[in-house]
Order: sequence, then C-alpha cells, then structure tokens
Amino acid sequence: MTKSIPIKKELIAPCGMNCAICSNYLASVNNLKRSQCAGCRPSNKKCTYLFKKCTGINHSLEGNINALFCFECDQYPCKEIKRMDRRYRENYKMSVKENLAYIKEHGVEKFIAEQYKEHQCLKCGGLISIHNKKCFKCETITKLVEK
Ligand SMILES: [Zn+2]
Repeated sequence: MTKSIPIKKELIAPCGMNCAICSNYLASVNNLKRSQCAGCRPSNKKCTYLFKKCTGINHSLEGNINALFCFECDQYPCKEIKRMDRRYRENYKMSVKENLAYIKEHGVEKFIAEQYKEHQCLKCGGLISIHNKKCFKCETITKLVEK
C-alpha cells in the first residue's frame, strides 16, 4: 500500500505522541478549514501539556524541536506525562507511555513502521486520526477496535 502521508521522524513528539495521526496535523497536510498544526516538534513551541510545567530534561527549552524523548528524563514518568497518558488512554485508547516504551526498546524507525500498520486507512492508504477515527483523505470513519 502506498504511504500517502510520510511519517517523518520529527513528527514523533517528545511525549511519544505521533503527530501524523493528530487531527490538527492531518487538517494541515490536507489543507482543511479547521484548526491546523504542523506537529509538536516542527512548530517548535513549548508544549502546553508537558513542558510548560516540566522540571526535567526539557525544562529549559524554548520549543520542542530539540527536545529529548520523555523516557530519557530521570523524572520519567512525571505527573504531567502520567496525566497525559491517562487522558489519551481514556479518550483515544492510546497510551503515550506504551509508545515511549516501544521507542526506547526498538527505536523511532520501527515505531513509525508500526504506526502505519495501526493507523493507515485500508481504503486509500491515508492516515486515520486518533482523535476522531476519521481518514482525512477519503473521509472513511474507522470503527474503534477495543484492545
Ligand atoms: Zn482513507
């Protein structure tokens, strides 16, 4: 299947989120009239969820582009990442802590390969948003599969 939207390494955020499956990122690459984002690292702003309160390795950074993965921090898992993990598990059935554990063990490239398997639209090869389960390319809604 063609990988219609490349998942570049910089799309994997320091917290383990894959920005390529975020609704705001998909809106941006598909040029949709809604809230758009180029990804946490590329847009290079201080992460609202984590780094504004970070007292660990990413504390002194202005943006996210050079941030290390949170698992590299001696405070990991901190209160903020736990909160984010809980929020994503409850709302979107995805664990950023599991993502980080996978990246730590297998590296980013392998994580990206797995992300294609998990989030690619079977109809068109586009990526399905973790937030609304929608393929932004062909508008297919994928039914949520419970893990
Ligand atoms: Zn599709």
